[in-house]
Amino acid sequence: TSKAITFDQFIRQWAQERPDNVAMEQEERVLTFADLEEHGRRIVTWLQAQGLAKGDRISWLGKNELTYFLMFYAAARLGIVTVPIGWRLTAPEIAYILGDTGAKLLVCGEEFLDTAHKAGERLDSPPQIVTSQDFERQVADTPADDFAPAGPDDAVLQLYTSGTTGNPKGAVLSNRNLFSLRLANGADDQPWSTWEEDEAILVCMPCAHIGGTGLGIMAIAGGVRAIVQKEFSPEGVHDGFDAGITRLFIVPAALQMVIQHPRAKETDFSRVRYVMYGAAPIPLELLREAVQTISNAGFLQCYGMTETTGTIAILPPEDHTLEGNQRMRSAGKAVPGTEMKVVDEDGNTLPVGEVGELCVKSPSNMLGYWNLDEATSGALKDGWMHTGDAAYMDEDGYAYIQDRIKDMIISGGENVYPAEVESGIYGHPDVAEVAVIGVPDQKWGEAVKAVCVPKPGHSIDAGEIIAYAREHLAPYKVPKTIDVIEALPRNPSGKILRRELRAPYWEGQERQVN
Ligand code: ATP
Ligand code: MG
Repeated sequence: TSKAITFDQFIRQWAQERPDNVAMEQEERVLTFADLEEHGRRIVTWLQAQGLAKGDRISWLGKNELTYFLMFYAAARLGIVTVPIGWRLTAPEIAYILGDTGAKLLVCGEEFLDTAHKAGERLDSPPQIVTSQDFERQVADTPADDFAPAGPDDAVLQLYTSGTTGNPKGAVLSNRNLFSLRLANGADDQPWSTWEEDEAILVCMPCAHIGGTGLGIMAIAGGVRAIVQKEFSPEGVHDGFDAGITRLFIVPAALQMVIQHPRAKETDFSRVRYVMYGAAPIPLELLREAVQTISNAGFLQCYGMTETTGTIAILPPEDHTLEGNQRMRSAGKAVPGTEMKVVDEDGNTLPVGEVGELCVKSPSNMLGYWNLDEATSGALKDGWMHTGDAAYMDEDGYAYIQDRIKDMIISGGENVYPAEVESGIYGHPDVAEVAVIGVPDQKWGEAVKAVCVPKPGHSIDAGEIIAYAREHLAPYKVPKTIDVIEALPRNPSGKILRRELRAPYWEGQERQVN
Protein backbone atom coordinates (compact mmCIF):
# COMPACT_ATOMS: atom_id res chain seq x y z
CA THR A 1 0.00 0.00 0.00
CA SER A 2 1.32 3.37 -0.99
CA LYS A 3 1.16 6.38 1.32
CA ALA A 4 1.65 8.80 -1.53
CA ILE A 5 -1.04 11.43 -2.05
CA THR A 6 0.59 13.94 -4.40
CA PHE A 7 1.83 13.80 -7.99
CA ASP A 8 5.34 14.56 -6.83
CA GLN A 9 5.31 11.64 -4.37
CA PHE A 10 3.87 9.15 -6.83
CA ILE A 11 6.18 10.08 -9.65
CA ARG A 12 9.30 9.97 -7.44
CA GLN A 13 8.13 6.67 -5.96
CA TRP A 14 7.61 4.92 -9.31
CA ALA A 15 10.79 6.41 -10.75
CA GLN A 16 12.63 4.73 -7.89
CA GLU A 17 10.73 1.43 -7.77
CA ARG A 18 9.89 0.93 -11.46
CA PRO A 19 12.31 3.18 -13.39
CA ASP A 20 12.32 1.12 -16.58
CA ASN A 21 8.62 0.28 -16.69
CA VAL A 22 6.61 2.09 -19.33
CA ALA A 23 4.58 4.92 -17.79
CA MET A 24 2.83 6.04 -20.93
CA GLU A 25 2.93 5.53 -24.65
CA GLN A 26 1.28 6.86 -27.77
CA GLU A 27 2.00 5.39 -31.18
CA GLU A 28 5.82 5.42 -31.50
CA ARG A 29 6.51 7.44 -28.37
CA VAL A 30 7.24 5.51 -25.18
CA LEU A 31 8.14 7.06 -21.80
CA THR A 32 9.30 5.17 -18.72
CA PHE A 33 8.72 6.28 -15.14
CA ALA A 34 12.35 7.44 -15.05
CA ASP A 35 11.64 9.58 -18.14
CA LEU A 36 8.52 10.97 -16.49
CA GLU A 37 10.52 12.06 -13.44
CA GLU A 38 13.31 13.61 -15.49
CA HIS A 39 10.99 15.35 -17.98
CA GLY A 40 8.88 16.57 -15.09
CA ARG A 41 11.77 18.37 -13.47
CA ARG A 42 12.75 19.99 -16.77
CA ILE A 43 9.19 21.16 -17.32
CA VAL A 44 9.03 22.58 -13.80
CA THR A 45 12.19 24.59 -14.43
CA TRP A 46 10.82 25.79 -17.76
CA LEU A 47 7.47 26.81 -16.27
CA GLN A 48 9.24 28.78 -13.54
CA ALA A 49 11.40 30.44 -16.18
CA GLN A 50 8.17 31.66 -17.83
CA GLY A 51 7.36 33.46 -14.58
CA LEU A 52 4.79 30.91 -13.47
CA ALA A 53 4.38 29.91 -9.83
CA LYS A 54 2.17 27.82 -7.57
CA GLY A 55 -1.51 28.77 -7.89
CA ASP A 56 -1.19 30.10 -11.46
CA ARG A 57 -3.33 28.61 -14.24
CA ILE A 58 -2.03 27.11 -17.46
CA SER A 59 -4.12 25.57 -20.20
CA TRP A 60 -4.08 22.82 -22.79
CA LEU A 61 -6.10 22.88 -26.01
CA GLY A 62 -5.92 19.70 -28.01
CA LYS A 63 -6.64 16.04 -28.32
CA ASN A 64 -5.01 13.53 -25.98
CA GLU A 65 -1.23 13.81 -26.34
CA LEU A 66 1.57 12.63 -24.09
CA THR A 67 2.69 16.27 -24.00
CA TYR A 68 -0.52 17.20 -22.21
CA PHE A 69 0.00 14.54 -19.56
CA LEU A 70 3.69 15.43 -19.14
CA MET A 71 2.84 19.09 -18.71
CA PHE A 72 -0.06 18.50 -16.35
CA TYR A 73 1.85 16.07 -14.11
CA ALA A 74 4.88 18.37 -13.91
CA ALA A 75 2.78 21.48 -13.22
CA ALA A 76 0.90 19.54 -10.56
CA ARG A 77 4.16 18.62 -8.83
CA LEU A 78 4.74 22.34 -8.37
CA GLY A 79 1.09 23.31 -7.71
CA ILE A 80 0.45 25.13 -10.97
CA VAL A 81 -3.15 24.39 -11.97
CA THR A 82 -3.77 22.86 -15.41
CA VAL A 83 -7.02 23.63 -17.22
CA PRO A 84 -7.56 21.31 -20.21
CA ILE A 85 -10.01 22.75 -22.74
CA GLY A 86 -12.22 20.59 -24.94
CA TRP A 87 -10.95 20.73 -28.52
CA ARG A 88 -14.44 20.80 -29.97
CA LEU A 89 -15.11 24.21 -28.42
CA THR A 90 -15.19 27.33 -30.61
CA ALA A 91 -12.80 30.28 -30.26
CA PRO A 92 -15.29 32.39 -28.21
CA GLU A 93 -15.95 29.46 -25.85
CA ILE A 94 -12.22 28.88 -25.44
CA ALA A 95 -11.68 32.61 -24.87
CA TYR A 96 -14.33 32.50 -22.14
CA ILE A 97 -12.48 29.75 -20.26
CA LEU A 98 -9.07 31.36 -20.75
CA GLY A 99 -10.42 34.70 -19.53
CA ASP A 100 -12.25 33.10 -16.62
CA THR A 101 -9.15 31.27 -15.41
CA GLY A 102 -6.65 34.00 -16.25
CA ALA A 103 -4.38 31.34 -17.76
CA LYS A 104 -0.92 32.73 -18.53
CA LEU A 105 0.17 29.92 -20.82
CA LEU A 106 -1.71 27.92 -23.42
CA VAL A 107 -0.06 24.87 -24.94
CA CYS A 108 -1.95 23.52 -27.92
CA GLY A 109 -1.91 20.64 -30.34
CA GLU A 110 -0.42 21.76 -33.70
CA GLU A 111 -3.82 21.57 -35.45
CA PHE A 112 -5.37 23.97 -32.93
CA LEU A 113 -2.87 26.82 -33.22
CA ASP A 114 -5.22 28.94 -35.36
CA THR A 115 -8.14 28.48 -33.00
CA ALA A 116 -5.88 29.25 -30.05
CA HIS A 117 -4.78 32.55 -31.60
CA LYS A 118 -8.38 33.45 -32.48
CA ALA A 119 -9.34 32.85 -28.87
CA GLY A 120 -6.33 34.84 -27.64
CA GLU A 121 -7.25 37.85 -29.81
CA ARG A 122 -10.52 38.18 -27.92
CA LEU A 123 -8.73 38.75 -24.61
CA ASP A 124 -7.17 41.88 -23.07
CA SER A 125 -4.31 39.88 -21.62
CA PRO A 126 -4.01 36.77 -23.77
CA PRO A 127 -1.86 33.86 -22.60
CA GLN A 128 1.46 32.98 -24.14
CA ILE A 129 0.58 30.45 -26.88
CA VAL A 130 2.96 27.57 -27.66
CA THR A 131 2.39 24.42 -29.72
CA SER A 132 3.10 21.08 -28.12
CA GLN A 133 6.11 20.50 -30.40
CA ASP A 134 7.56 23.89 -29.49
CA PHE A 135 6.94 23.23 -25.83
CA GLU A 136 8.75 19.88 -26.08
CA ARG A 137 11.70 21.48 -27.93
CA GLN A 138 12.10 24.25 -25.38
CA VAL A 139 11.79 21.85 -22.45
CA ALA A 140 14.44 19.54 -23.94
CA ASP A 141 16.91 22.46 -23.76
CA THR A 142 16.09 23.21 -20.12
CA PRO A 143 18.01 21.63 -17.21
CA ALA A 144 16.22 19.54 -14.57
CA ASP A 145 16.26 21.37 -11.25
CA ASP A 146 15.02 20.85 -7.73
CA PHE A 147 11.89 22.57 -6.50
CA ALA A 148 9.50 22.72 -3.54
CA PRO A 149 6.63 20.35 -4.31
CA ALA A 150 2.94 21.16 -3.79
CA GLY A 151 1.09 19.66 -0.82
CA PRO A 152 -1.92 17.32 -0.69
CA ASP A 153 -4.50 20.10 -0.50
CA ASP A 154 -3.09 22.39 -3.14
CA ALA A 155 -5.19 22.77 -6.29
CA VAL A 156 -3.64 21.08 -9.32
CA LEU A 157 -6.39 20.58 -11.88
CA GLN A 158 -9.38 22.61 -12.98
CA LEU A 159 -11.86 20.65 -15.06
CA TYR A 160 -14.97 22.10 -16.59
CA THR A 161 -18.20 20.12 -16.18
CA SER A 162 -19.61 18.64 -19.37
CA GLY A 163 -22.19 21.39 -19.89
CA THR A 164 -25.04 18.91 -20.28
CA THR A 165 -27.54 20.92 -18.27
CA GLY A 166 -26.19 24.46 -18.75
CA ASN A 167 -22.92 26.41 -18.85
CA PRO A 168 -19.85 24.39 -17.90
CA LYS A 169 -18.45 25.22 -14.45
CA GLY A 170 -14.78 24.93 -13.47
CA ALA A 171 -14.33 22.35 -10.71
CA VAL A 172 -11.09 22.97 -8.81
CA LEU A 173 -9.42 19.72 -7.71
CA SER A 174 -6.50 19.12 -5.34
CA ASN A 175 -3.88 16.37 -5.17
CA ARG A 176 -5.91 14.71 -2.42
CA ASN A 177 -9.10 14.87 -4.50
CA LEU A 178 -7.36 13.23 -7.43
CA PHE A 179 -5.61 10.47 -5.51
CA SER A 180 -8.66 9.58 -3.46
CA LEU A 181 -9.78 7.82 -6.63
CA ARG A 182 -10.23 4.42 -5.03
CA LEU A 183 -9.94 2.39 -8.19
CA ALA A 184 -6.20 2.40 -8.41
CA ASN A 185 -4.15 3.06 -5.34
CA GLY A 186 -4.50 -0.20 -3.47
CA ALA A 187 -6.23 1.60 -0.60
CA ASP A 188 -9.16 -0.83 -0.59
CA ASP A 189 -9.29 -4.57 -0.22
CA GLN A 190 -11.37 -4.84 -3.38
CA PRO A 191 -9.93 -6.98 -6.16
CA TRP A 192 -10.15 -4.11 -8.66
CA SER A 193 -8.04 -1.89 -6.40
CA THR A 194 -5.14 -4.28 -6.69
CA TRP A 195 -3.16 -3.73 -9.84
CA GLU A 196 -0.61 -6.12 -11.27
CA GLU A 197 2.64 -4.47 -12.30
CA ASP A 198 2.18 -5.49 -15.94
CA GLU A 199 -1.29 -4.01 -16.39
CA ALA A 200 -2.07 -1.46 -19.06
CA ILE A 201 -4.86 1.06 -19.12
CA LEU A 202 -6.44 2.66 -22.18
CA VAL A 203 -6.87 6.44 -22.13
CA CYS A 204 -9.23 7.22 -25.01
CA MET A 205 -11.88 9.56 -23.61
CA PRO A 206 -11.17 13.31 -24.01
CA CYS A 207 -8.59 14.72 -21.59
CA ALA A 208 -10.77 17.75 -20.87
CA HIS A 209 -13.06 15.37 -18.95
CA ILE A 210 -12.46 13.38 -15.83
CA GLY A 211 -13.12 10.16 -17.82
CA GLY A 212 -9.99 10.95 -19.86
CA THR A 213 -7.59 12.70 -17.51
CA GLY A 214 -8.80 10.56 -14.58
CA LEU A 215 -7.59 7.41 -16.31
CA GLY A 216 -4.14 8.90 -16.71
CA ILE A 217 -4.14 9.71 -13.00
CA MET A 218 -5.21 6.14 -12.22
CA ALA A 219 -2.21 4.82 -14.11
CA ILE A 220 0.09 7.14 -12.09
CA ALA A 221 -1.50 5.96 -8.85
CA GLY A 222 -1.19 2.31 -9.92
CA GLY A 223 2.29 2.63 -11.36
CA VAL A 224 1.23 1.02 -14.63
CA ARG A 225 1.36 1.69 -18.35
CA ALA A 226 -1.11 4.11 -19.91
CA ILE A 227 -1.80 3.66 -23.61
CA VAL A 228 -2.94 7.07 -24.81
CA GLN A 229 -5.05 7.56 -27.93
CA LYS A 230 -5.76 10.95 -29.49
CA GLU A 231 -9.49 10.43 -29.39
CA PHE A 232 -12.05 7.67 -29.09
CA SER A 233 -12.77 5.39 -32.00
CA PRO A 234 -14.15 1.84 -31.85
CA GLU A 235 -11.21 0.66 -34.00
CA GLY A 236 -8.79 2.30 -31.59
CA VAL A 237 -10.30 0.45 -28.66
CA HIS A 238 -9.98 -2.85 -30.54
CA ASP A 239 -6.33 -1.94 -31.29
CA GLY A 240 -6.00 -1.39 -27.56
CA PHE A 241 -7.35 -4.87 -26.83
CA ASP A 242 -4.87 -6.28 -29.36
CA ALA A 243 -2.07 -4.38 -27.59
CA GLY A 244 -3.02 -6.05 -24.32
CA ILE A 245 -4.88 -3.43 -22.31
CA THR A 246 -6.21 -4.83 -19.05
CA ARG A 247 -8.57 -1.95 -18.19
CA LEU A 248 -10.40 0.86 -19.89
CA PHE A 249 -13.09 3.39 -19.20
CA ILE A 250 -15.66 4.37 -21.80
CA VAL A 251 -19.10 5.99 -21.83
CA PRO A 252 -22.14 3.85 -22.77
CA ALA A 253 -22.44 5.29 -26.30
CA ALA A 254 -18.79 4.35 -26.93
CA LEU A 255 -19.23 0.89 -25.40
CA GLN A 256 -22.10 0.29 -27.82
CA MET A 257 -19.88 1.18 -30.81
CA VAL A 258 -17.10 -1.09 -29.56
CA ILE A 259 -19.20 -4.21 -29.00
CA GLN A 260 -21.26 -3.74 -32.16
CA HIS A 261 -18.16 -3.18 -34.32
CA PRO A 262 -17.39 -6.02 -36.81
CA ARG A 263 -14.02 -6.54 -35.09
CA ALA A 264 -15.79 -7.53 -31.86
CA LYS A 265 -16.23 -11.02 -33.35
CA GLU A 266 -12.47 -11.59 -33.71
CA THR A 267 -10.97 -9.56 -30.89
CA ASP A 268 -9.28 -11.55 -28.14
CA PHE A 269 -10.63 -10.09 -24.90
CA SER A 270 -8.87 -12.59 -22.66
CA ARG A 271 -6.39 -10.09 -21.16
CA VAL A 272 -9.07 -7.57 -20.14
CA ARG A 273 -9.56 -7.58 -16.38
CA TYR A 274 -12.00 -4.71 -15.95
CA VAL A 275 -14.32 -2.79 -18.22
CA MET A 276 -15.24 0.46 -16.50
CA TYR A 277 -18.19 2.32 -17.93
CA GLY A 278 -20.41 5.17 -16.77
CA ALA A 279 -20.88 8.96 -16.94
CA ALA A 280 -24.41 8.49 -18.30
CA PRO A 281 -27.27 6.04 -17.80
CA ILE A 282 -26.85 2.77 -19.69
CA PRO A 283 -29.78 0.88 -21.21
CA LEU A 284 -30.06 -2.57 -19.60
CA GLU A 285 -30.14 -4.37 -22.97
CA LEU A 286 -26.89 -2.73 -24.00
CA LEU A 287 -25.24 -3.68 -20.72
CA ARG A 288 -26.37 -7.31 -21.15
CA GLU A 289 -24.96 -7.40 -24.66
CA ALA A 290 -21.64 -5.93 -23.47
CA VAL A 291 -21.31 -8.42 -20.61
CA GLN A 292 -21.93 -11.28 -23.04
CA THR A 293 -19.47 -9.92 -25.60
CA ILE A 294 -16.53 -9.25 -23.26
CA SER A 295 -17.50 -12.22 -21.14
CA ASN A 296 -14.26 -12.86 -19.24
CA ALA A 297 -13.88 -9.29 -17.91
CA GLY A 298 -15.26 -7.86 -14.69
CA PHE A 299 -17.64 -5.00 -15.38
CA LEU A 300 -17.51 -1.97 -13.12
CA GLN A 301 -20.17 0.67 -13.46
CA CYS A 302 -18.81 4.01 -12.34
CA TYR A 303 -21.06 6.74 -11.05
CA GLY A 304 -19.68 10.16 -10.36
CA MET A 305 -19.26 13.67 -11.62
CA THR A 306 -16.52 16.17 -12.38
CA GLU A 307 -17.15 17.76 -8.98
CA THR A 308 -16.39 14.45 -7.22
CA THR A 309 -13.29 13.77 -9.34
CA GLY A 310 -15.21 11.06 -11.13
CA THR A 311 -16.18 7.76 -9.62
CA ILE A 312 -17.61 7.75 -6.11
CA ALA A 313 -19.88 4.71 -6.49
CA ILE A 314 -19.17 1.38 -8.16
CA LEU A 315 -21.42 -1.44 -9.27
CA PRO A 316 -19.12 -4.46 -8.85
CA PRO A 317 -18.73 -7.36 -11.31
CA GLU A 318 -20.79 -9.79 -9.22
CA ASP A 319 -23.84 -7.56 -9.71
CA HIS A 320 -23.60 -7.89 -13.48
CA THR A 321 -25.34 -11.27 -13.59
CA LEU A 322 -27.67 -11.68 -16.50
CA GLU A 323 -30.78 -13.30 -15.05
CA GLY A 324 -33.29 -11.85 -12.62
CA ASN A 325 -30.95 -9.35 -11.01
CA GLN A 326 -32.49 -6.02 -10.10
CA ARG A 327 -29.06 -4.78 -8.99
CA MET A 328 -27.90 -4.61 -12.58
CA ARG A 329 -30.06 -1.49 -12.79
CA SER A 330 -28.13 0.15 -9.97
CA ALA A 331 -25.18 2.52 -10.37
CA GLY A 332 -23.56 0.88 -7.37
CA LYS A 333 -22.41 1.42 -3.83
CA ALA A 334 -20.28 4.22 -2.38
CA VAL A 335 -16.56 3.45 -2.54
CA PRO A 336 -14.75 3.14 0.83
CA GLY A 337 -14.27 6.49 2.52
CA THR A 338 -17.30 7.95 0.74
CA GLU A 339 -20.88 8.32 1.99
CA MET A 340 -24.09 8.78 0.04
CA LYS A 341 -27.53 9.92 1.12
CA VAL A 342 -30.79 10.89 -0.56
CA VAL A 343 -32.51 14.10 0.57
CA ASP A 344 -35.78 15.93 -0.04
CA GLU A 345 -36.04 19.60 -1.09
CA ASP A 346 -35.46 20.75 2.50
CA GLY A 347 -32.35 18.65 2.89
CA ASN A 348 -33.93 15.98 5.11
CA THR A 349 -32.57 12.48 4.62
CA LEU A 350 -35.14 10.21 2.98
CA PRO A 351 -35.74 6.58 3.94
CA VAL A 352 -34.67 3.61 1.83
CA GLY A 353 -36.57 3.36 -1.47
CA GLU A 354 -37.68 7.00 -1.69
CA VAL A 355 -36.53 9.16 -4.57
CA GLY A 356 -34.82 12.47 -3.87
CA GLU A 357 -31.55 14.24 -4.62
CA LEU A 358 -28.42 12.14 -4.25
CA CYS A 359 -25.70 13.73 -2.08
CA VAL A 360 -22.11 12.62 -1.68
CA LYS A 361 -19.52 13.17 1.03
CA SER A 362 -16.09 12.18 -0.16
CA PRO A 363 -12.40 13.10 0.09
CA SER A 364 -12.64 13.47 -3.66
CA ASN A 365 -15.25 16.24 -3.51
CA MET A 366 -13.83 19.31 -5.29
CA LEU A 367 -12.47 22.33 -3.43
CA GLY A 368 -15.14 24.42 -5.20
CA TYR A 369 -16.19 25.97 -8.50
CA TRP A 370 -13.77 28.55 -9.87
CA ASN A 371 -15.10 32.12 -9.56
CA LEU A 372 -18.63 30.91 -8.72
CA ASP A 373 -19.06 31.30 -4.98
CA GLU A 374 -22.82 31.13 -5.08
CA ALA A 375 -22.88 27.97 -7.18
CA THR A 376 -20.26 26.47 -4.85
CA SER A 377 -22.27 27.13 -1.70
CA GLY A 378 -25.40 25.84 -3.45
CA ALA A 379 -23.70 22.60 -4.40
CA LEU A 380 -21.39 21.91 -1.44
CA LYS A 381 -23.15 22.03 1.93
CA ASP A 382 -21.29 20.84 5.04
CA GLY A 383 -19.02 18.80 2.83
CA TRP A 384 -21.92 17.14 0.99
CA MET A 385 -21.95 17.52 -2.78
CA HIS A 386 -25.51 17.88 -4.09
CA THR A 387 -25.42 16.02 -7.37
CA GLY A 388 -28.59 17.26 -9.07
CA ASP A 389 -29.38 13.61 -9.76
CA ALA A 390 -32.65 11.99 -8.69
CA ALA A 391 -32.01 8.64 -7.03
CA TYR A 392 -33.09 6.21 -4.35
CA MET A 393 -31.05 3.76 -2.28
CA ASP A 394 -31.78 0.20 -1.24
CA GLU A 395 -31.15 -1.27 2.22
CA ASP A 396 -27.64 -2.36 1.20
CA GLY A 397 -26.61 1.13 0.13
CA TYR A 398 -26.91 0.65 -3.63
CA ALA A 399 -27.95 3.82 -5.44
CA TYR A 400 -30.45 3.72 -8.29
CA ILE A 401 -29.99 6.82 -10.42
CA GLN A 402 -33.29 7.81 -12.01
CA ASP A 403 -32.02 10.73 -14.01
CA ARG A 404 -31.10 14.37 -13.66
CA ILE A 405 -33.67 16.28 -11.64
CA LYS A 406 -33.76 18.93 -14.38
CA ASP A 407 -34.74 16.34 -17.01
CA MET A 408 -37.54 14.72 -15.01
CA ILE A 409 -40.89 14.91 -16.81
CA ILE A 410 -44.01 15.64 -14.76
CA SER A 411 -46.91 14.22 -16.76
CA GLY A 412 -50.38 14.23 -15.25
CA GLY A 413 -48.81 14.59 -11.80
CA GLU A 414 -46.61 11.52 -12.21
CA ASN A 415 -42.81 11.75 -12.28
CA VAL A 416 -41.29 10.14 -15.36
CA TYR A 417 -37.53 9.69 -15.65
CA PRO A 418 -36.35 9.77 -19.29
CA ALA A 419 -33.57 7.22 -18.70
CA GLU A 420 -36.06 4.52 -17.68
CA VAL A 421 -38.22 5.15 -20.74
CA GLU A 422 -35.14 5.10 -22.98
CA SER A 423 -34.10 1.79 -21.48
CA GLY A 424 -37.61 0.44 -22.16
CA ILE A 425 -37.44 1.33 -25.85
CA TYR A 426 -33.78 0.61 -26.54
CA GLY A 427 -34.28 -3.12 -27.17
CA HIS A 428 -36.67 -2.59 -30.12
CA PRO A 429 -35.11 -4.13 -33.26
CA ASP A 430 -35.50 -0.97 -35.36
CA VAL A 431 -34.03 1.42 -32.80
CA ALA A 432 -30.32 2.28 -32.77
CA GLU A 433 -30.54 5.11 -30.23
CA VAL A 434 -33.28 6.87 -28.35
CA ALA A 435 -33.69 9.99 -26.21
CA VAL A 436 -36.78 10.89 -24.21
CA ILE A 437 -37.91 14.42 -23.40
CA GLY A 438 -40.92 16.25 -21.98
CA VAL A 439 -42.86 18.47 -24.38
CA PRO A 440 -45.63 20.93 -23.48
CA ASP A 441 -49.08 19.37 -23.28
CA GLN A 442 -52.43 21.10 -22.58
CA LYS A 443 -53.86 18.15 -20.70
CA TRP A 444 -50.88 16.56 -18.97
CA GLY A 445 -48.67 19.58 -18.34
CA GLU A 446 -45.83 17.75 -20.04
CA ALA A 447 -46.12 14.77 -22.34
CA VAL A 448 -43.49 12.08 -22.86
CA LYS A 449 -41.88 12.13 -26.30
CA ALA A 450 -39.31 9.66 -27.61
CA VAL A 451 -36.87 10.72 -30.31
CA CYS A 452 -35.50 7.66 -32.11
CA VAL A 453 -32.57 7.05 -34.45
CA PRO A 454 -33.33 4.05 -36.69
CA LYS A 455 -30.79 1.28 -37.25
CA PRO A 456 -29.24 1.46 -40.74
CA GLY A 457 -31.72 0.08 -43.28
CA HIS A 458 -34.61 0.11 -40.79
CA SER A 459 -37.48 2.54 -40.46
CA ILE A 460 -39.38 3.58 -37.36
CA ASP A 461 -43.09 2.86 -37.01
CA ALA A 462 -44.41 5.07 -34.22
CA GLY A 463 -47.34 2.79 -33.39
CA GLU A 464 -45.02 -0.19 -33.09
CA ILE A 465 -42.59 1.62 -30.79
CA ILE A 466 -45.44 2.73 -28.56
CA ALA A 467 -46.82 -0.83 -28.44
CA TYR A 468 -43.33 -2.12 -27.59
CA ALA A 469 -42.94 0.50 -24.84
CA ARG A 470 -46.32 -0.58 -23.39
CA GLU A 471 -44.94 -4.07 -22.82
CA HIS A 472 -42.05 -2.71 -20.77
CA LEU A 473 -43.35 0.39 -19.03
CA ALA A 474 -46.24 1.55 -16.86
CA PRO A 475 -48.89 3.35 -18.95
CA TYR A 476 -48.01 6.88 -17.77
CA LYS A 477 -44.37 6.37 -18.82
CA VAL A 478 -45.23 5.28 -22.37
CA PRO A 479 -44.39 8.00 -24.94
CA LYS A 480 -47.40 9.78 -26.38
CA THR A 481 -45.47 10.66 -29.54
CA ILE A 482 -42.41 9.44 -31.42
CA ASP A 483 -40.08 11.53 -33.54
CA VAL A 484 -37.38 10.24 -35.84
CA ILE A 485 -33.98 11.90 -36.08
CA GLU A 486 -30.75 11.04 -37.93
CA ALA A 487 -28.43 11.44 -34.95
CA LEU A 488 -28.86 12.54 -31.35
CA PRO A 489 -27.17 15.77 -30.26
CA ARG A 490 -24.37 14.83 -27.89
CA ASN A 491 -21.65 16.74 -26.09
CA PRO A 492 -17.97 15.82 -26.48
CA SER A 493 -18.18 13.33 -23.64
CA GLY A 494 -20.94 11.45 -25.48
CA LYS A 495 -23.87 12.58 -23.38
CA ILE A 496 -27.25 13.23 -24.95
CA LEU A 497 -28.11 16.94 -24.90
CA ARG A 498 -31.79 16.70 -24.02
CA ARG A 499 -32.01 20.48 -23.60
CA GLU A 500 -31.18 20.84 -27.31
CA LEU A 501 -33.77 18.25 -28.29
CA ARG A 502 -36.36 19.99 -26.10
CA ALA A 503 -35.70 23.54 -27.31
CA PRO A 504 -37.83 23.61 -30.51
CA TYR A 505 -40.90 22.31 -28.66
CA TRP A 506 -40.63 24.87 -25.88
CA GLU A 507 -40.04 27.95 -28.03
CA GLY A 508 -41.71 30.92 -26.39
CA GLN A 509 -42.60 28.93 -23.29
CA GLU A 510 -40.81 28.58 -19.97
CA ARG A 511 -40.29 25.00 -18.88
CA GLN A 512 -40.90 24.47 -15.16
CA VAL A 513 -37.79 22.95 -13.58
CA ASN A 514 -37.83 21.40 -10.12
P1 ATP B 1 -23.14 19.86 -16.32
O1 ATP B 1 -22.93 19.68 -14.85
O2 ATP B 1 -22.27 20.93 -16.88
O3 ATP B 1 -24.56 19.96 -16.72
P2 ATP B 1 -22.58 17.03 -16.52
O4 ATP B 1 -23.32 16.93 -15.24
O5 ATP B 1 -22.98 16.09 -17.62
O6 ATP B 1 -22.62 18.53 -17.07
P3 ATP B 1 -20.25 15.61 -15.65
O7 ATP B 1 -19.65 16.05 -14.38
O8 ATP B 1 -19.36 15.11 -16.72
O9 ATP B 1 -21.03 16.83 -16.26
O10 ATP B 1 -21.30 14.45 -15.42
C1 ATP B 1 -21.85 14.09 -14.16
C2 ATP B 1 -23.24 13.54 -14.34
O11 ATP B 1 -23.25 12.40 -15.21
C3 ATP B 1 -23.89 13.04 -13.07
O12 ATP B 1 -24.42 14.09 -12.30
C4 ATP B 1 -24.96 12.09 -13.62
O13 ATP B 1 -26.11 12.80 -14.05
C5 ATP B 1 -24.30 11.50 -14.85
N1 ATP B 1 -23.76 10.16 -14.54
C6 ATP B 1 -22.49 9.86 -14.20
N2 ATP B 1 -22.33 8.54 -14.00
C7 ATP B 1 -23.54 7.97 -14.20
C8 ATP B 1 -24.02 6.63 -14.14
N3 ATP B 1 -23.24 5.60 -13.84
N4 ATP B 1 -25.35 6.45 -14.39
C9 ATP B 1 -26.15 7.47 -14.69
N5 ATP B 1 -25.75 8.75 -14.77
C10 ATP B 1 -24.45 9.01 -14.54
MG1 MG C 1 -23.34 18.19 -13.56
